[in-house]
Amino acid sequence: MDIRELQRLDAAHHLHPFNDNAALAKRGTRLLTRGEGCHVWDADGNRLLDAFAGLWCVNVGYGRRELGEVAAKQMQDLAYYNSFFQCTTEPTVRLAAKLAELMPHDLNHAFFTNSGSEANDTILRMVRHFWAVQDKPRKNIFIGRHNGYHGSTVAGASLGGMKGMHKQGGLPIPDIHHIDPPFWFGDGGDLPEEEYGRICAQRLEDKILELGADRVAAFIGEPVMGAIGVWIPPRNYWQEIEKICRRHDVLLVADEVICGFGRTGEWFGAQTFDFRPDIMTLAKGITSGYIPLGAVMFNDRVAEVLATRGGELAHGYTYSGHPVCTAVALENIRILQEEGIVERARDHVAPYLAQRWRELGEHPLVGEARIVGMVGALELVPDKPGRRGFAEKGVVGTRCRDIALANGLILRATNDAMLLSPPLVITREEVDELFGKAWKSLDMTAREFGIAGV
Ligand code: PMP
Repeated sequence: MDIRELQRLDAAHHLHPFNDNAALAKRGTRLLTRGEGCHVWDADGNRLLDAFAGLWCVNVGYGRRELGEVAAKQMQDLAYYNSFFQCTTEPTVRLAAKLAELMPHDLNHAFFTNSGSEANDTILRMVRHFWAVQDKPRKNIFIGRHNGYHGSTVAGASLGGMKGMHKQGGLPIPDIHHIDPPFWFGDGGDLPEEEYGRICAQRLEDKILELGADRVAAFIGEPVMGAIGVWIPPRNYWQEIEKICRRHDVLLVADEVICGFGRTGEWFGAQTFDFRPDIMTLAKGITSGYIPLGAVMFNDRVAEVLATRGGELAHGYTYSGHPVCTAVALENIRILQEEGIVERARDHVAPYLAQRWRELGEHPLVGEARIVGMVGALELVPDKPGRRGFAEKGVVGTRCRDIALANGLILRATNDAMLLSPPLVITREEVDELFGKAWKSLDMTAREFGIAGV
């Protein structure tokens, strides 16, 4: 492989997502060539421990041949057929039924997409339709959260609360509002957890009352906020949110694109935080990232209205229920279930991972080490006892990420938080490897920035 030639072609022809492409072209992209378990190899031959599971998605780990074999067989049998015109295919039907079985309560119905973003776009249209056919066309407002992430399409980015995304392209679209989410490290640390949880949930009720419950269609949130930096809510937050939604007949949407399929310890974040969404967004872990697929799961109430009064939902994608993708998802779920990967991670790995992650919290550069199940973050700070961050955001985090990479460890940095989301199959030995490389990287970063105590 001619790495330099590929980097030149990449710079000339390939626009990367979420990247300053001029800066990237100067540095040259890293080419990844192979993966096995929790490790990937780059074109220079470096072996890297991927503590971020690709992009929060490779839950079963790399190199599972069964997934490729299932895809190849499905392609040979029937590479494509759509789900329009009264048609469908066996893996797509079987996946819908399998997901219904896996879901925590009566989320018994699936609509398939190619991604998390498309699933959230679907939810926006489906929910507005749900209220409109019940003679409530004005009940069309979605409430999301500042700093939430629900994808990059026009509706996904609008539902999300990333200011930088809203600035580009005139978002959000109309009738989408946002409230502040809980962020313990940023603004909660002095309050008892329950009280802080109630205060944060109350922001939703205040917003509903301000807008009028007859205008508010749904609330959407990530059980654990991923992209902004793994913001873990107080234990009671989601239960309080659910009560408020029920009180005002507002549909509750859990975006489980990251949380789903074992990431927070249970199969779904709604189980970890013990609440009952009406609608759930799935993607990523549904195929462990081996092939693109997203899904909207919705409950019997929504299904019943759509079935009895909905008529045609004028919405769908060429690849909704693509049989190769659904076949791979089925095989991925078979692997997760038969090998007990979610339960093993929850019971045997997550407690050890949490222990070692909290040890990293002792490092002079770390202000907080937070973790739930198999997802966590380290908040880097200039002065350890305080909760104040660096004056210029993101410089230290990005540098720490680069140093970790040079030390053979992939972590993501958001601002100055180092994010953790390893494949669920990570072993205790690999957790030790992770710890060693992370500590060394924190040390090197701290020295570079003159942090006291290193
Ligand atoms: N929702 C959440 C919570 C996400 O984290 C993401 C992606 N990171 C999305 C939606 C969008 O998914 P996709 O990139 O597959 O469109």
